[in-house]
Amino acid sequence: MTKVFHLSVECYPVAKVGGLADVVGALPKYQKKLGIDACVVMPWYDRPFVNNHPFTVVHQGSFYQGSERFDFQIYKEQENSLGFELYLIKIPGKLDRSEVYCYPDEGEQFIAFQHAFLQWLKDKEIVPDILHCHDHHVGLIPFLVRHSRDFSFLSGCKTVVTVHNGQYQGWMNWNKGILLPAFDTWKWGLLDWDGLINPLATAIKCCDAYTTVSEGYLEELYEEANGLQTLFSDERHKSFGIVNGIDTDIWNPETDHSLAKNYAVKSVKTGKASNKKQLCKQYGLDAKLPLLAFIGRFAAEKGADLLPEILFNVFKENENKISIFILGSGDQLIQSHIQKLVEPYSGRLAVYFGYDENLAHAIYASADFILMPSRVEPCGLNQLYAMKYGTLPIVNSIGGLKDTVLDINDTDGYGIVFQKAAITDVCYAVKRAMDYSEQTDLYKKNQQKMMQLDFSWEKSAQRYLNLYNQLLN
Ligand code: ADP
Repeated sequence: MTKVFHLSVECYPVAKVGGLADVVGALPKYQKKLGIDACVVMPWYDRPFVNNHPFTVVHQGSFYQGSERFDFQIYKEQENSLGFELYLIKIPGKLDRSEVYCYPDEGEQFIAFQHAFLQWLKDKEIVPDILHCHDHHVGLIPFLVRHSRDFSFLSGCKTVVTVHNGQYQGWMNWNKGILLPAFDTWKWGLLDWDGLINPLATAIKCCDAYTTVSEGYLEELYEEANGLQTLFSDERHKSFGIVNGIDTDIWNPETDHSLAKNYAVKSVKTGKASNKKQLCKQYGLDAKLPLLAFIGRFAAEKGADLLPEILFNVFKENENKISIFILGSGDQLIQSHIQKLVEPYSGRLAVYFGYDENLAHAIYASADFILMPSRVEPCGLNQLYAMKYGTLPIVNSIGGLKDTVLDINDTDGYGIVFQKAAITDVCYAVKRAMDYSEQTDLYKKNQQKMMQLDFSWEKSAQRYLNLYNQLLN
């Protein structure tokens, strides 16, 4: 049986910031159904899942980062409640915190995580078939198993790197180089990109294969990848685009515990109406009006900086004919601009600044439209979840959005696609959605069609399996 270790700093429901967590929390489960022995290794977090589930310490070890000694423990979740083995690495003082990102010593944290992982495998003489590394946080692994003598026993492992977001690369100044496990110094060039240690670049240079979370995004990375486009392009012979799926154990309107009312394809109209009534009552909105929603990080990638102007224009053009719900967090400036609109548009605009998983589910079930004015979208899960819940996606034509949403005017289309993250394009797309929703029969048929589209993990998990087999044979 192929033994795969997924390495990631996020995994739903242990610690989630975005789509990375959803993928790492789902893919191994679906891989197990295909007969792959997949498990997840992530940092230990001071979070509810970790504190409320039983864990056993299966190993204790130590390593040096520069001259500093770190002791670490490997915790294994006892019940495999996620459908796969989950291991957490705890390092007192480094990996024992509540948040995933944004600590000043983040680089040291990620290096320590990777070092402890390799040390554990060494101490226990574990040699997996595949080391599957997710994003730059664990991007040094493919380098270390090839060029660190301490871990050369792993040099036969195949390494797969999945790029969930190429914008973030984990840049570190070279003065951090001494914190890495000892490596063949004449190979330093593999760590370097433009004078900095760049773990994402290192991962792409050293891995056996790299994947992106959609084919469209892979094509885009060859052209623009925050400085790494030539690298992605030069290494394209080992690249694969594999689109993410939906974990229907979590995202299914028929069984979702976060909903006021569950519904199926046949009951989409009444089911969504019940959810909307409840949500609108709670947030002071008129449930009779179409509801447009945005869920996501307040970042330029997501086009969130456009939201204040979009809100202003959409309300102006559709006076008293639409409500809007914004759920998100991130850039404080964007947040304060949105906040300024809450009072003038009271009764028509609801906002929740922060992260709330249950609320996100309730919004997917209640909204008529989900807006994604993203400038960069490696896959995008919001549009997939929205469609599963019968909610019309209004998306910019980029990356994974382009791959997964076909415009209603195209053959077999079912969504609203615009060509540029710009105010006029977005507003026109919203108008198209509004007009379309007025054709009630057609609109309902389309909702039912979207709910039945196949964005299953089964298909994508099989593609990962094919890739592993290709590398191992
Ligand atoms: P990202 O680039 O942020 O990873 P994705 O579309 O891949 O974008 O995944 C976003 C995931 O995070 C989805 O599951 C979405 O529902 C969730 N999400 C984003 N922001 C919030 C929030 N403020 N509250 C709850 N869930 C959120």
